[in-house]
Amino acid sequence: MEIDCDVLIIGGGLTGLITAKEVAKKGFTVKVLEEDMEIGIPEKCAGLVSMKALSQLGIIPKAKIVQNRIERAILHSPSGLSLDIDARKQRVVVLDRSEFDKELAYRAINVGADIILKTRFSQFNEFENFVKVKANGKDYTCRILVDAKGYPIKSKGLLNAAQFEVYSQSFQRDIVEIFFDQRLSPGFFTWIIPYDNHLAKVGVAGIGIDPFKSIELFLKNKKCVILKKIASPLFVYGPLNHFVSQRVVTVGDAAGQSKPTTAGGIYTGGMGGIFAGRALIEALNKNDINCLKMYEEAWFKMFGKEFKVMLLARRIFERLSNNQIDQIFKILSPSLINEICEKCDFDYHSSILIQALSVKEIVKILGVITIEEFKNLASLLGIYKAENN
Ligand SMILES: Cc1cc2nc3c(=O)[nH]c(=O)nc-3n(C[C@H](O)[C@H](O)[C@H](O)COP(=O)(O)OP(=O)(O)OC[C@H]3O[C@@H](n4cnc5c(N)ncnc54)[C@H](O)[C@@H]3O)c2cc1C
Repeated sequence: MEIDCDVLIIGGGLTGLITAKEVAKKGFTVKVLEEDMEIGIPEKCAGLVSMKALSQLGIIPKAKIVQNRIERAILHSPSGLSLDIDARKQRVVVLDRSEFDKELAYRAINVGADIILKTRFSQFNEFENFVKVKANGKDYTCRILVDAKGYPIKSKGLLNAAQFEVYSQSFQRDIVEIFFDQRLSPGFFTWIIPYDNHLAKVGVAGIGIDPFKSIELFLKNKKCVILKKIASPLFVYGPLNHFVSQRVVTVGDAAGQSKPTTAGGIYTGGMGGIFAGRALIEALNKNDINCLKMYEEAWFKMFGKEFKVMLLARRIFERLSNNQIDQIFKILSPSLINEICEKCDFDYHSSILIQALSVKEIVKILGVITIEEFKNLASLLGIYKAENN
């Protein structure tokens, strides 16, 4: 039977476009279906990412895409205690995500991928040698289907989130601020990410919250002007156990590849796109869908342990009261913070988390830890020590 393309990708967001470029550059036919009318719009991201991550993704963004460079991070406890972290070594930037996605689209088109806008995928049927997809009432056939359509809508455990673009004289251009408060943002935090002079992306996420109300409450007594509002859930309980099923491959947020701690997915999802692309090429070249498993193996090798630690930390964090968070802030003296952050990596949170979770005073504050969590912690600590000796 005649097929429309080798690979059909649902979703023209970050990971769909990275996958599209990887596969198209090897001469395979690739189509990307995007339900929105414009790539990158609406923008549903703060765009915080390290230069190291971008270079691993093989992308040096154009100057106009980098809105800002971050030098410090200030963490605030519920009662107003703060921790100041020097972030210069991490080389963290704020991207204009709309422009970034357009740049990714350009790169994919440049090597032959076809992007079809305003086309909403609705269902697929898998056959022995191909997949049939329905979108906007039309049928498409492909050899392999990629699901890159963002957060898994049906999954339990989505955090409600929203982000405003805000003008305020009080924002400091090079400082990211994070506010913990289990009433305003249960299980997560509120962020201020500056992207220009006096302009910042202010966002909040939390279990069961009305995120617009939470940000409005957060901004209530601050002199500011709201310029834009968006809402989009975050999925922080990933990854899925498997990213590949026969001729269907899942990448990015759809595969739960955003970090359980911060929900950052540019790096971990972007790498998913690269690994998926490489496996797709192998599978198409050899006409063997078993090669798709390479993608899963590569991603779990790079991030499997990392995500386990982050999920453990998330489970513990969700149980903490504001009072317990305050007590932890009191223990984290500037010298202890410096010690913990000395080896820290913006893209890999496990070393910071394991070090923090191994401070006796902090463990005492955490209160009840289940036997399973204790075993996990002990084993992760053992692995960490072995790797760092
Ligand atoms: C408020 C917020 C702030 C964030 N901030 C950061 C940050 O600072 N740093 C960071 O690393 N990560 C951040 N993230 C996470 C990051 O944005 C995601 O991890 C990343 O965009 C995932 O890329 P993706 O391609 O998997 O999904 P998306 O970028 O969501 O792309 C999915 C695409 O699929 C399309 N689509 C969906 N359904 C269909 C359909 N049925 N048919 C056709 N097309 C469809 C959508 O329109 C969309 O274009 C943030 C997320 C949110 C919500």
